[in-house]
Amino acid sequence: MRRKTVTVKIDEIPVGSDHPIVVQSMTNTDTADIPGTVEQVKRLADAGSELVRITVNNDPAAKAVPDIVNRLRQHDYMTPIIGDFHYNGHLLLTRFPDCAKMLAKYRINPGNVGTRHRDKNFMTIIEQAVLHNKPVRIGVNWGSLDQVLLTEMMDENSRLPEPLEAKTVMINAMVESAMRSARLAEESGLSHNKIILSAKVSGVQDLIQVYRKLAGGSDYPLHLGLTEAGMGSKGIIASTAGLSVLLQEGIGDTIRVSLTPKPGGDRTEEVRVAQQILQSLELRSFNPQVTACPGCGRTTSSLFQKLADDIWAYIHQQMPVWRTKFPGVEELKVAVMGCVVNGPGESKHADIGISLPGTGEAPKAPVYIDGIHAKTLRGETIARDFQAILDAYVVNRFGRNQQPGG
Ligand code: SF4
Repeated sequence: MRRKTVTVKIDEIPVGSDHPIVVQSMTNTDTADIPGTVEQVKRLADAGSELVRITVNNDPAAKAVPDIVNRLRQHDYMTPIIGDFHYNGHLLLTRFPDCAKMLAKYRINPGNVGTRHRDKNFMTIIEQAVLHNKPVRIGVNWGSLDQVLLTEMMDENSRLPEPLEAKTVMINAMVESAMRSARLAEESGLSHNKIILSAKVSGVQDLIQVYRKLAGGSDYPLHLGLTEAGMGSKGIIASTAGLSVLLQEGIGDTIRVSLTPKPGGDRTEEVRVAQQILQSLELRSFNPQVTACPGCGRTTSSLFQKLADDIWAYIHQQMPVWRTKFPGVEELKVAVMGCVVNGPGESKHADIGISLPGTGEAPKAPVYIDGIHAKTLRGETIARDFQAILDAYVVNRFGRNQQPGG
């Protein structure tokens, strides 16, 4: 069961326990590069990112924000754009009112709003949020945790008869930083339903601990993510491990997977991974799922791998059209199996499945539709024939969901 929260609206996107968990991402372009940033936001939105955050770190970036948002809207991209502020957010939001107005939400890191004037700078950002009627995310990060607060809490801990471990104090300090900042924001006039919290760390066990504590202390929606998750499979697996435990406990209302792309790599991978985490946990559906066995000594020909790959690619190619023409198609389950051992069984559990002949089996491939053996394919055209059966299934089953005139 989802942890109960209030709903925070980010433009038209609601975030909170009464709504689906929202997928978000962040650009890595120089925000002052308007065409480059617009292009990347479009790609992230096309991949399914429902919110996109951009860095607003200096005057040229703040000046670029209105242009970026306007260009996106001109091309019918309505994705809310969130501004990521550190150190000088109080100055930029005040000096560039159009930037403050065009952003859908401000991200504030309470550890990065100054030391001497910490609360004053923080309150200036909150004043801008109130003025422009914007929500904020109070995003604590252990790499930039409020050192004054941490020192205070460490000192206090050392005076206890049985001091806690330093790691526990650090986690408590992260939660305290988020909660203290949220209280200050509300005292400064920001509505309760304009605040989202996050407390990101880079270790999976720490993430689970800190979010469990954060979840217990309030009904603010939570933004979930591992900070600096890393590259490649390490980043994907660590994010999946941490987020899955928390999501399974009902914790988390919007997620971001912070992958480090290879130089020139595809930024949209983080969106696909976030979607797949939610879909694997059966929390949301984004794309049809293809179940394929790993193959083994019974699949010595490459026919099976090739068919699984072709079907996967075909579905992805069709999805932009299928999604609009056949509502519900994202829940489709397809199985492509390598031999008779698990092939028929797994195929029967899918909406549509094919069990290919393993090494030494008769060259025929039974196809199962809604659990029933519907057809047996043979010969060189198995791949093409299966694709045609898949097309017909999609039209028959999901075409019924079409709106009249659609
Ligand atoms: S279904 Fe057949 S080919 Fe696939 S892994 Fe199992 S035994 Fe191997």
